[in-house]
Amino acid sequence: MWLELPAFYHRLRPFAAAFAHGVPMLMYHKLGPRPPQVRLKGLYLSARLFERQLNELSAAGFVGVAPSSALVAGSGRRIVLSFDDGYQNLLRYGLPLLERYRFSAIVYLVAARLGGHNDWDIAEGEAPETLMDAAQVREWLAAGQRIGSHGLTHARLTRLTPAAAREEMMASRKRLEDLFGVEVADFCYPYGDWDRAVADGVIAAGYRTACTTGFGLNTPATDPFAMKRIMARYRSWSPWALRRRQRFPVEDRVCTALQPPLE
Ligand SMILES: [Zn+2]
Repeated sequence: MWLELPAFYHRLRPFAAAFAHGVPMLMYHKLGPRPPQVRLKGLYLSARLFERQLNELSAAGFVGVAPSSALVAGSGRRIVLSFDDGYQNLLRYGLPLLERYRFSAIVYLVAARLGGHNDWDIAEGEAPETLMDAAQVREWLAAGQRIGSHGLTHARLTRLTPAAAREEMMASRKRLEDLFGVEVADFCYPYGDWDRAVADGVIAAGYRTACTTGFGLNTPATDPFAMKRIMARYRSWSPWALRRRQRFPVEDRVCTALQPPLE
């Protein structure tokens, strides 16, 4: 059976049938108003659209779960809401809405950049955006939300020496656990950049899951260190987005979504 799936999550309806085949993990970055100089516009989602998405998911009976819960057999509609990098705008615009609709989410923090900026993006010409500081992360945790690690410095792990990659994974986990007194069991590969050696490093560092930017759903057959996600964003009608839709036929993506890899 072929289902037409858009490349990005915008609203539930096109995805509803596919979501019966596994647990979706939505990927978000920045919420709220978009500053004028932004290059990667798709990484911003308005609070209004985020609220519409939560409202729709809540009405359909979805419950926000931890990444590890997406990998066990279970009943009921489950979804993982994940936020990369840990921007302050998640706390400001996202947390009140998550609380209103009673959703739990996970934010993947860049452990050595708390209270700083997205300097890894700024170096490539992106507009600065402030990251949550330790007090704000505590506020997030106190509200019953989850944290995971996105490395120490948001480095591309496959380009580091094995020792440097290990440091990114191990030291970030230790730093977050020491600072916040919670177990940090979930990792998110910066840029979605990973290979088997990187995944083995994540396992050795003691994590229980790691998520990629690969499109698809998660089932008990999914590799816990290669969890799939679906980017949530607004529907773009830019020529670039339209060309991209033509280049990557939706059928390919549906195939990935419905047939988890056999491990
Ligand atoms: Zn990131």
